[in-house]
Amino acid sequence: MKNWHKPFQPEKARAFFQHAFASRVELVKDMPRVLISRAAYNAMWHYVDIASQEVGWLGTCCRQGNDFLIEEVFLFKQEVSHVSTEITADGLAEMAQELISSRLDGVEICNSLRFWGHSHVNMGTSPSGQDDSQMDVFQESRHSFFVRAILNKQGRMEFTIYLYESGVKIVDAEWTIYEPADQNLREGIEAEFKAKISQARYGYAGLGYDQYNGDRVIGSIGLHKEENLYRPADISTKKPRKGGRKDGN
Ligand SMILES: [Zn+2]
Repeated sequence: MKNWHKPFQPEKARAFFQHAFASRVELVKDMPRVLISRAAYNAMWHYVDIASQEVGWLGTCCRQGNDFLIEEVFLFKQEVSHVSTEITADGLAEMAQELISSRLDGVEICNSLRFWGHSHVNMGTSPSGQDDSQMDVFQESRHSFFVRAILNKQGRMEFTIYLYESGVKIVDAEWTIYEPADQNLREGIEAEFKAKISQARYGYAGLGYDQYNGDRVIGSIGLHKEENLYRPADISTKKPRKGGRKDGN
């Protein structure tokens, strides 16, 4: 009787051949997100709110672990129309010059300009052909990545992360406001806590319960109903009755 379950076993290994491939991309980390500083978020909202045409801007963008952080945004000189923004070499050069001359970290900022945002005013936030070809221009500038945002007055902000090195773009990437804890603010609040807030302690008059570590003590009779729960007599001799209240109701 033939064994149908027995796999075919050729005497010699076959030469490898190309099977019907089913290539796919799988993530080995979480999907990268766009993080936006509160300042950049606010500036972009004002740009979109004020502009009645397709205004554009650039911004700093750096990697923050697996994510991409947009910290600052800058308007550049541009000629706008209802359908497109012209990013000219002159406009960019002028912005770079201004940054370098006005800020100590100007050069650093210019080197980290890897974000381009623009308003579609009242139109949808899908990219135009020109928006896509603009991203090819950034790739030609040998950037390893670049982030694009298209925003509109309807409150929509759509990001695409271009990972040029791996030839992948993340379309409609998740975005969130980035607000790290401010350590100076924290220290000030901690000092204020120390000065204004202390732990209340409940004891009873006359039992010497006001010896708690110098904390403020509320030690008078009847100040707090829960006081009764802590009477030594309750703890040692009485158990709470099951069901019903003590007064019998
Ligand atoms: Zn556009």
